[in-house]
Amino acid sequence: MSINVNISHREDFPLLRDSNIVYLDNAATSQKPDCVIEAVEEFYHKHNANPLRGFYELAMLATEQLENSRTTVKEFINAKFEEEVIFTKGTTESINLIANSYGMNFLGEGDEILISIMEHHCNILPWQFVASKTGAVLKYLECDMDGLISDTAIEEAITDKTKIVAITQLSNVLGRENPIARITKTAHEHGAIVVMDAAQSVVHVKIDVQALDVDFMAFSGHKIMSPMGIGILYGKKELLNKMPPFLRGGEMIESVTRTDAVFAQLPYKFEAGTDNASGAVGLMAAINYINSIGMEYMHERTLMLTKMCFDAICKIPHIHIIGAKDSNNHNGIISFTIDNVHPHDVSQILSESNVCVRAGHHCAQPLCDFLGFKSCTRASFMFYNTQEDIDTFIKSLSGIRKMMGYGD
Ligand code: PLP
Repeated sequence: MSINVNISHREDFPLLRDSNIVYLDNAATSQKPDCVIEAVEEFYHKHNANPLRGFYELAMLATEQLENSRTTVKEFINAKFEEEVIFTKGTTESINLIANSYGMNFLGEGDEILISIMEHHCNILPWQFVASKTGAVLKYLECDMDGLISDTAIEEAITDKTKIVAITQLSNVLGRENPIARITKTAHEHGAIVVMDAAQSVVHVKIDVQALDVDFMAFSGHKIMSPMGIGILYGKKELLNKMPPFLRGGEMIESVTRTDAVFAQLPYKFEAGTDNASGAVGLMAAINYINSIGMEYMHERTLMLTKMCFDAICKIPHIHIIGAKDSNNHNGIISFTIDNVHPHDVSQILSESNVCVRAGHHCAQPLCDFLGFKSCTRASFMFYNTQEDIDTFIKSLSGIRKMMGYGD
């Protein structure tokens, strides 16, 4: 480990600071630090007006806050232009926007959409819909049982028929980072565009959309400590410019007549209706908080906690970790099954020790089918978790089979 990662910053998070909750469901949503909650509160105390509309001072302040947030996001993901950053509700809406606006208009009979087998349902269902409406064919990029997508699999799956590759940078079940730069290079050689789902990776990997050369990227603010209901769609300007709007309504137009409309320039063409300005302000505060702690620090500490937990789980009989055999490929996510114990029971028993984990198919049913189970339990970590969190979790986990009536 290159840096000292002893500080958890747990005291910055009121929900954790003021309780004995062991929060290990960070892949579902992250906790919010004081600075984010205060930024949202301050917006409503001091700056609340409908942004992008009024010409009075308060409305201009609200607009300024929204645009400052856009600039902050642009720098955070290293986009080339601010207008490539579009506010949405979250990853799900962002991907639906791409599918509806790009997929429905630029795909046709026989074209291929390639998604990986480990996608979250929000990066499957929109493409199933596009395929069913356009005659395009939906194909799957396979991984091995450890979650690895090999170079050979990439070379074989991407062909001149491929028009869109939509893939997660980091699986929400396996925690493994996918070789996005490699996929993008191959996709571009065949004339396809790449949509990257960064919902899970955004908190673990420094995202640089220009270096990765992805054409679209989506993430949700709530996974990086900002409020729910705010998310980002990044798209290359030349693509966004040729796409029609997804939603139609207020503030996304230049002019409207009885029969027609001229749409606004980017990014407003894709931001119909009142923006979630307080959410955007919260997102800006979250990114500033991340910058103050450092992505590298957060990542290294998460890896340290992941390893600690991974090694401890490996010592408990009858528990099977899903995915890679080494903890470094788990990036804060450990999914597992326990022989003869249903994941819902696991989650409920852990809850009695105040441990919060997720159980189910994690909105990734094709992956679960491929790996041979219906559901599993997932513990997921952030830098604000502590060694005590892991100890409580492991202690409770170790006793589950006995509690369910098994001898060991
Ligand atoms: N993609 C991945 C990999 C996810 O893990 C999630 C949520 O867990 C999503 C997409 C959907 O995010 P949201 O529900 O915030 O739109």
